[in-house]
Amino acid sequence: MSVDKAFREMIRNEIELQLKPLRDVVSRLETGTADLDELRNVAERLAPLAAAVGPLFGAGAAAGRAPAAPARRGAGRPAARAAAAAPAAAGGKKRGRKPAAEGGARQCAIIGCGKPSRTKGYCAAHYQKLRMLEKTNRRPSSWVDYADPNSVEDVKLPRGRAAAKALAEAQKAG
Ligand SMILES: [Zn+2]
Repeated sequence: MSVDKAFREMIRNEIELQLKPLRDVVSRLETGTADLDELRNVAERLAPLAAAVGPLFGAGAAAGRAPAAPARRGAGRPAARAAAAAPAAAGGKKRGRKPAAEGGARQCAIIGCGKPSRTKGYCAAHYQKLRMLEKTNRRPSSWVDYADPNSVEDVKLPRGRAAAKALAEAQKAG
């Protein structure tokens, strides 16, 4: 019991001692008087401690063994690798656009387009067109959101003078 307690005390003191420079650097980082080289030095000094203490606390194979190797390569590296590994691990959690790129390319809803769909079942170009048609009150009823791939008839828009006329008519109708 008391041996255990003494041991814990010793470890705690050792950690306190080793962490002090880190705390100093952090406080100086906060006041802007330390640079990252100092932080790196401290981190390098702490790495062996982590390797030594980790197993004692049953940090196990993952935390105990792993640090010894990467820590030696210089402080910049492991962090960079961790950052690179993270998105891969996060996998399907990719934010925002392009769900099509992953699941294996659902095609644009417009017949004969063949491009991967990006928004509401339409490729970038056809979604633009859809929005334009909608804005000008000419969206065909078949151009529904999330239409099946390759299922919607494209519309050919008039050009030049005819275009202006078509627009005016659409505006009146709306
Ligand atoms: Zn398309």
